[in-house]
Amino acid sequence: MSKKQSCSETETMLWEAALRDGGIVDTHLHLDQEPFETDREAVLERARRAGVKQMISIGCGVASSQAALRLAEQHEDIFVAVGIHPHDAGAASEADFLALQEIAKHPKVVAIGEIGLDYFYMHAPKETQQQVFQRGLELAALSDLPFVIHSRDAEEDTIALLEASAQKHRLQGVIHCFSGTLSFAERCLSLGLYLSIPGMITFVSSVKKVVRELPLERLLIETDAPYLAPAPFRGQRNEPAYVRQTALALAELLRVPPHLVASTTTHNAQQLFRLPPFVEADVSSL
Ligand SMILES: [Zn+2]
Ligand SMILES: [Zn+2]
Repeated sequence: MSKKQSCSETETMLWEAALRDGGIVDTHLHLDQEPFETDREAVLERARRAGVKQMISIGCGVASSQAALRLAEQHEDIFVAVGIHPHDAGAASEADFLALQEIAKHPKVVAIGEIGLDYFYMHAPKETQQQVFQRGLELAALSDLPFVIHSRDAEEDTIALLEASAQKHRLQGVIHCFSGTLSFAERCLSLGLYLSIPGMITFVSSVKKVVRELPLERLLIETDAPYLAPAPFRGQRNEPAYVRQTALALAELLRVPPHLVASTTTHNAQQLFRLPPFVEADVSSL
């Protein structure tokens, strides 16, 4: 008990020091989803108290993109990506893309995503996923927005489609929930992309091993809440406040001070997504 308390006190001290330059951005989470239905405001408050100054809520289809946008209209610190998740590629229609193209004009929409390939779950055939992914990349180029890519068990095809797209457009985007091989990371970096580091670095040693080799100046950080909670919250609902566990773990892996992880990943997120500077949250009630 006392050991646990002292750990969390150390963590809190580290984190407060880390945030001396401002705050942090959770670049990927799903605030519209059902697990947040009953206590969303409390989740947002806890995130703000943990120093999360901006959040990008990611759409997985037209309805979820619209729902995320409604939240962004109510909260200054929420921004949105609109897209069709590879899980739902089978049901995607041309009308969906036209709808997304319209929604993407909203000033709080900062990216197209998530889009990509998921050959682990394979909810839609590979060819369909590839077509929908390609369509998403085109929409990003057309809308002059960066993209947010989901890639699971599909490194070769992800790279092939990105390289084909790079022939036509300047690529700007991120591989979210990065948990791939070092060679995949290197190829993505050489295409000019960022990699977003998930809570998995707190408990998956193979991911830790690769992330240790990555350049901080090309990394973002995310929770993917409500999924994939970092240690010590594994198995529970994830929430944006837990991005600090990932930030502290990343600092340890890269052997840099936590404030550098906070300030560099914030700078990267603001550059890529063209986010406004932080506004001071009202913390008078703390
Ligand atoms: Zn994803
Ligand atoms: Zn996601």
